[in-house]
Amino acid sequence: MKAARYYGQRDIRIDDLPEPQVGPGTVGIEVAWCGICGTDLHEYLEGPIFCPTHDTPHPISGETSPITLGHEFSGVVYAVGEGVADIAVGQHVVVEPYIIRDEVDTGPHSTDYHLSRDMNFIGLAGRGGGLGEKIAVQRRWVHPIADSVPLDQAALIEPLSVGYHAVQRSGAKAGDVAVVGGAGPIGLLTSAVLKALGVTVVISEVSDLRRRKATESGVADHALDPRTADVAAEVRRLTGGRGADVAFECTSVQVVLDTLMDALRPTGVLVVVSIWGKRAEFDMHKLVMKEIDLRGTIAYVNSHPATIELVESGKIDLEPFITGRIGLDGLVDEGFDTLINHNDSAVKILVSPSGKGL
Ligand SMILES: [Zn+2]
Repeated sequence: MKAARYYGQRDIRIDDLPEPQVGPGTVGIEVAWCGICGTDLHEYLEGPIFCPTHDTPHPISGETSPITLGHEFSGVVYAVGEGVADIAVGQHVVVEPYIIRDEVDTGPHSTDYHLSRDMNFIGLAGRGGGLGEKIAVQRRWVHPIADSVPLDQAALIEPLSVGYHAVQRSGAKAGDVAVVGGAGPIGLLTSAVLKALGVTVVISEVSDLRRRKATESGVADHALDPRTADVAAEVRRLTGGRGADVAFECTSVQVVLDTLMDALRPTGVLVVVSIWGKRAEFDMHKLVMKEIDLRGTIAYVNSHPATIELVESGKIDLEPFITGRIGLDGLVDEGFDTLINHNDSAVKILVSPSGKGL
């Protein structure tokens, strides 16, 4: 089978690999669609970050580079391993792509398995990836989805779960006003979850195209250009002078952090969703004087069932966020290149590893 493998910086190759063994406790999945994520781009341009190197194996997977990429994927079950009785061949599924130590409690009531030591992701640190035609995944991380959800949209459930967990971290509830800094894929999908919960969403975004996507898809009530609008003043105007209840930082840009601090009401909650590769400047005095709650969020934890429900029930439509569909051979030239050099024209580019559906 064909798979895209990461060898190192700017070195991704389409390789011919043996099909995975569907061992005991695992589910064999024929990948339908796999999204290209910002994390994949960082591995390509600046990595290895999450990926292991050629000589240091990942402590849990035991694997070194090359590593099959792809952690945002949907597919159809083609085989089940010994001991798997609650999932059948033909079932449509998505994967919660974790690599987590066996001794960690990953049960339905765990709230912290995503923070366990050496946690990493399928498609970044081993165990196959969604940018291969087939993959075998431990049953724990396979989530069935209804046939009514198109498989291309289902590939966006993984990044949507990131938004779901971020919203949970914020404590936002219906009737609240949220400000989202940045309308990249994660900013848009976080906004989609907020809207589905009945929260009013104000997005701050410099790109015209992304602002248009935010309003046309219906996930933002207001989309402001921070170069021409005073975002904090506009948010106060919209909230009768009060300020936003919650804010989400989805850019890792300093000025956005400052703007969100200004736009929040006293005792508001600021959730940092983006990955910061550098230290931030922080107005600590403002945080103290407004009693702001500053919270981090990473990935998801037991978030997939509720996220899937939002999509199955039609409360969230993921179709507007799919802006391209390509084959594995176009991964670097069409996929990565577009996202790196023309990133405001694309939201989510999906790859069909087998070429089916193109
Ligand atoms: Zn991702």
